[in-house]
Amino acid sequence: YEKEVSKLERMNLIGQIAASIGHEIRNPMTTVRGYLQLLGVKADYRAEKATFDLMISELDRANEIIAEFLSLAQIKKVELKSKNLNDIISNLYPLIEADAFTQNKQICFIPEVIPNVELNEKEISQLVLNLTRNGFEAMEERGYLTIRTCLEGKRVVLQIEDEGSGIPPEYLNKLGTPFFTTKDYGTGLGLATCYKIVENHNAKILINSSSSGTNVCVLFPIR
Ligand code: ADP
Ligand code: MG
Repeated sequence: YEKEVSKLERMNLIGQIAASIGHEIRNPMTTVRGYLQLLGVKADYRAEKATFDLMISELDRANEIIAEFLSLAQIKKVELKSKNLNDIISNLYPLIEADAFTQNKQICFIPEVIPNVELNEKEISQLVLNLTRNGFEAMEERGYLTIRTCLEGKRVVLQIEDEGSGIPPEYLNKLGTPFFTTKDYGTGLGLATCYKIVENHNAKILINSSSSGTNVCVLFPIR
């Protein structure tokens, strides 16, 4: 008999590959980064120091891509707990503000009274950060990003709206495909991760975009 590889076995394989990337590739990178830092401190010339800084920042970028890929490939079932989305966003807010500040963008958070829903705080924080980062990156200087939460029927709604240049219609069906990016230094893993997180929460994601901005809605079911 020919043995058919089940979806579960395939997923396990992806998980194993991810784990070995995690250990076998990231550990040596950490060692290299450490020695580069050491040599950079000892470097005699400013130009030499700059080269070491560049090598370190490129290593960090590679590491970030691996981290994003690992979280996407993770097959462990996430634990959901009854939580309030407003609390999670409030805990995360300093980080979002720091992002806004470094990019010279404006931000506001308009929470409404909402009931608890089943959430995984780590994943929801990642979701919100990925979406707000995309919003900031889509906007010219001083654009406004608005985060809203509200109750709509039997759903808790998270809405992230930016005043960016929007998503061209021909790209809409590519969103969420791993490694799809239109940015020079993008990974194209942000939205793919968001889609996976949304699925883990039995939620829905809707993206509305025009040339004056993008509005992403995530709808969480209330039990
Ligand atoms: P990355 O941000 O690394 O490019 P993402 O998966 O987060 O990867 O996004 C994929 C692509 O979707 C982006 O490169 C961009 O073209 C488009 N996109 C996502 N969010 C927005 C947004 N808010 N406004 C405009 N384009 C967006
Ligand atoms: Mg992104």
